Amino acid sequence: MIPTFRFAPSPNGHLHLGHACSALLNADLARAAGGRFLLRIEDIDEARCRPEYEAAITEDLAWLGLAWETPVRRQSEHFSDYRAALAKLDAMGVLYPAFESRAEILRLVAAREEAGPWPRDPDGAPLYPGDAKAMPAAERADRIARSEPHVLRLDLAAALARLGAEAARLSWQERGAGPAGETDPVGPTVTARPELWGDVVLARKDVPASYHLAVVIDDAAQGITEVVRGRDLFAATSIHRVLQALLGLPAPVYRHHRLILDADGKKLSKSTRATGLRELRAAGTTPADIRRLIEPAGDLVHP
Ligand code: GLU
Repeated sequence: MIPTFRFAPSPNGHLHLGHACSALLNADLARAAGGRFLLRIEDIDEARCRPEYEAAITEDLAWLGLAWETPVRRQSEHFSDYRAALAKLDAMGVLYPAFESRAEILRLVAAREEAGPWPRDPDGAPLYPGDAKAMPAAERADRIARSEPHVLRLDLAAALARLGAEAARLSWQERGAGPAGETDPVGPTVTARPELWGDVVLARKDVPASYHLAVVIDDAAQGITEVVRGRDLFAATSIHRVLQALLGLPAPVYRHHRLILDADGKKLSKSTRATGLRELRAAGTTPADIRRLIEPAGDLVHP
């Protein structure tokens, strides 16, 4: 199997030093392994993603000196793949529609919190507080027939029950830094903890996918053997492993690299101009300077 790496940005803003770190690390590791380096445009969020950001992404990556295989996979062109996966999961009985709006969810969480703290997922969002899973089939069918907006959620308990003994053994191979940015690799094997996430959304109201669903389908479709990404996605790997197991998809090896942080120790955001690649380039920074700037995240294989 040819080692196959990918960089998977979302075209909802300009790239910053954190993206440069991921992209360079993927490309360097692919070169060192004699493998392939692919680009994937994660544009399922049609309200926020724009073609001009995609154009800017490819321009910035080329400026960094990167070359990737074509054609580039664009998620918005593969909705039928995600629909097929959803149909498979539905047939397994591990999906359910949930009709609450974001505002209703916040109200439900607030009501639950009157009795004590309500659990949050590793990203800090409250676990799903609703009871759509218990909705009578007739009501569900009726609301869907009336085209009521809804998301599709993973019934995690049903999913783990379906996986049986495999659920308890779910894990992944990790070559990277771990959730707290440890200096040494936390691997080689990390036990999955999907229960931290609860019933995640797998299809949004207006898109037949969510990040979690699309990423596992695409990594498999592109034959990705090594997923190299920031450690902000370390915990999400637990959900990705559940979906891979349910859908019979191969598990890549993962490397979650440390993040580039701003002066306040926070994750970079797409709106922080000081670390944007375009701004740095305009100020005379060279690609070699960028490599020096991202050195604190470590792990870089120098060509
Ligand atoms: N599109 C995601 C991001 O820009 C990356 C997803 C991944 O690497 O799994 O954060």
